[in-house]
Amino acid sequence: MKIILLGPPGSGKGTQAKRLEARHGLVQISTGEILREAVAAESSLGKTIKNTMAVGELISDDLVLEVLKERLAAPDCKHGVVFDGFPRTIAQAEALDEIVFEGEGAVDAVINLEIDDSILISRIQQRVNDAVYGEARSDDTVEVLKNRLLAYYEWTAPIIPFYEERGLLWRVDGMSQVHQVTDAIESIVAQIERN
Ligand code: AMP
Repeated sequence: MKIILLGPPGSGKGTQAKRLEARHGLVQISTGEILREAVAAESSLGKTIKNTMAVGELISDDLVLEVLKERLAAPDCKHGVVFDGFPRTIAQAEALDEIVFEGEGAVDAVINLEIDDSILISRIQQRVNDAVYGEARSDDTVEVLKNRLLAYYEWTAPIIPFYEERGLLWRVDGMSQVHQVTDAIESIVAQIERN
């Protein structure tokens, strides 16, 4: 099974991806996580993308597709994957259609976690406050998170109609309690499995 979780930063994609991983043996593929690891390892990719990541802008499609293809080639992905933070542009979505699942079938479902701006901004503020006291992700600042939100609206939100036209889009209320979001996603997975 291949599932894409869509939604703005702060919508809970990472949490729900981990639950899908635990319950269904899907492998969570977080391009953000892979890219952060490259930055931490100070690889040549890491050095190239460090500044772009630090300000909350998107990494070029070519670079992201390269790391994604490499990750998908690993044997653990054969059991199924849940994409968290990918695709983030129409070009990435088109590339996913063409290159990634050659001979293995297409994406089964794209689940959009819907959430109002006002709630997002307060969640983001909360994350920034938490970061001040706890272990922070270096891109957890108000300024950077605003950039991430702008990038989401400019580049990622247009993916929603892209998948809707293909009949793959499912909408989930991302503002309900975390366990309710999980239940809604579980019922989508059950419907896909029945088909
Ligand atoms: P995330 O952990 O998904 O919030 O991603 C953190 C950062 O990694 C983003 O702000 C981007 O700079 C970069 N990034 C992650 N995934 C992608 C992607 N699919 N396309 C472009 N940039 C990405």
